[in-house]
Amino acid sequence: MKIEIPRGIIIRSNSEIYDGNNSQIKFWEKLNEIFPYQNYRKEQFDIISAIQNESNKTLLIDAETGAGKTAAVLSAILSRKQSGERIIIFTKMLGQMDAWFRELGLINDFNRKIGNQSYTMVPLVGRSNLCHLITRDIKKLFNQIGCSLFDCHYQKAFPMMRNDFGTNENYSQQVLSEIRESLKKGVGLSEILWILENKIDNYGCPYFALKTTLEFAEIVITTYPFLTQPKLREILFDDMLIDIPRTTIVIDEAHNLAKGTYADLSYKTLDRAFAEIGSHEILEGLQALREKEGLHTFYVNDTLLDDLEARGKRYLLWKFDNGYRDISYTLKVCEFLKNTEFCYLTSEKKFTLFLKDPRTILNPVKHANQLILLSGTLRPLEDFANFLGVPNSQKIAIYSEKLGENRIILTTSDSDLTMKYQTRSKDTYVKYSQEIKKLTDIIPGHTLIFTPNYEITVVLSNLLNTSYFEKPNQDVSKLINSVISSKEKVIVVAPARGKVSEGIEFVIDDKSIISAVIVAGLPYPPPSKSLREIIREYGKFWGEEKATNYMNYLQATVTMRQCLGRMIRSENDIGAWIILDNRITNMDVFPRAIECKNTDRMIERLIFFYQQHQLE
Ligand code: SF4
Repeated sequence: MKIEIPRGIIIRSNSEIYDGNNSQIKFWEKLNEIFPYQNYRKEQFDIISAIQNESNKTLLIDAETGAGKTAAVLSAILSRKQSGERIIIFTKMLGQMDAWFRELGLINDFNRKIGNQSYTMVPLVGRSNLCHLITRDIKKLFNQIGCSLFDCHYQKAFPMMRNDFGTNENYSQQVLSEIRESLKKGVGLSEILWILENKIDNYGCPYFALKTTLEFAEIVITTYPFLTQPKLREILFDDMLIDIPRTTIVIDEAHNLAKGTYADLSYKTLDRAFAEIGSHEILEGLQALREKEGLHTFYVNDTLLDDLEARGKRYLLWKFDNGYRDISYTLKVCEFLKNTEFCYLTSEKKFTLFLKDPRTILNPVKHANQLILLSGTLRPLEDFANFLGVPNSQKIAIYSEKLGENRIILTTSDSDLTMKYQTRSKDTYVKYSQEIKKLTDIIPGHTLIFTPNYEITVVLSNLLNTSYFEKPNQDVSKLINSVISSKEKVIVVAPARGKVSEGIEFVIDDKSIISAVIVAGLPYPPPSKSLREIIREYGKFWGEEKATNYMNYLQATVTMRQCLGRMIRSENDIGAWIILDNRITNMDVFPRAIECKNTDRMIERLIFFYQQHQLE
């Protein structure tokens, strides 16, 4: 049988796609009605083929930023979608939902043009993102206590407003069609939320409106806590009346799930909770652990926790009524402790939670119709799959050819360049600043430098004489704006686990303005008693070597790749990734890296690279 080749498709000579199987033909035909671009790129073709293969029940996709993975994944899962099948997409942060809305907007425009039905995607976000009564100064406070902060007419009126539509389904379909109509080219999350906020007199409270529609929504997009926190997950799955085997789950930026720690709480927060409500059995229990460094199993009695929460809420409302706009630290403690059932607690400079068994994090969605873990940072794939408890998953690594041309990766084997914890000294920092200075002199634009922590960030920014650096608890938007508006090239120094490293983009007209990212020292977690004890616990099921590897090497890899990703917005962005730490030579992270024996060699390579791209 002769098969029509879908428009612009790239076919590999050994392709098994066109083997005459009817369902496969239908898939590719349907894909052509959905995929919003004229041509599939090779990277997208590989992603789509992997998703289309029904035997790939759990799929780990490591695709570099700029490979076009959002469009490819969305088109593939929609093309294969059966009637009654549901789709849930989890992102780490709200800002990451925009890419999904943008692609679905293009898909919808394309479908409208050819007279097909367009798609709806319901964002499940916290009520503080939708509530018209929220101002900036009370957003965090509202997150803690919710609607009881106000005597809100819409809260009481919601059931009546919904009943005006007859049935729940009529109401939901109306809201869904409102979202569907709005979902077109260029529309992001904020526009969708804005539309619902402005229709409050038609549909009532926008938060309740979205929650009500979940039962009938085909595609839902939400954030990680609705996957990782049992209570929130229950709410989502119950509201959706979800049947996991008939649901496709996509987890975006899935490397974040392999983060060693689950949550933390500073000792200062505990002190403040004491100052708010005085003594309480739970607070006293935590105080006692503070004196005992190391790993603990901390059981919290539900009744006591409810009592602590009630006291925190009373305190917060009293402060609010008296004109204060502070959050409650008691409630912060409660929020933290709700996770102790499935986490170990460690105390060492602060309290930290570690999952008792990271391999269980995907258990609630393991039996999904298809589970797709997506990231540009899932290498080594085998390690991530083991860490997340899906060792038998299908794993694919996608490399963008264009990215290979537009980006140079340089590593050093210089024996003097390492930020190894045990050998760090003043001389190390001076040496680093000298080498960085040589590099930034020839880098044509802004350079981002990531260090292992805040202390080294301050030291290096002083040595490099730059005022652009991230401070603890800083609102980084000011820093970003000052970089964006700078007429001169600047050096920005930030810690590898700070806010700048976490998905912040320096962009003008959709293009990255960063010419290079330098990793000044691999961001291994600092050695500590707690880490040793966690590794010992994990060693019981992984073996000590793997546990050590996952809690050190894997963590450093994830953090480093996260930092490097700050340079790339799309495959057209041009720049250099420079790893200044000789320990990188033993890590299998960058197959395309060029190893240089010293900084002078790096400079030669960089000059040539920037000349090639006419960026001198
Ligand atoms: S019911 Fe809705 S509109 Fe009213 S306070 Fe709560 S979130 Fe805001």
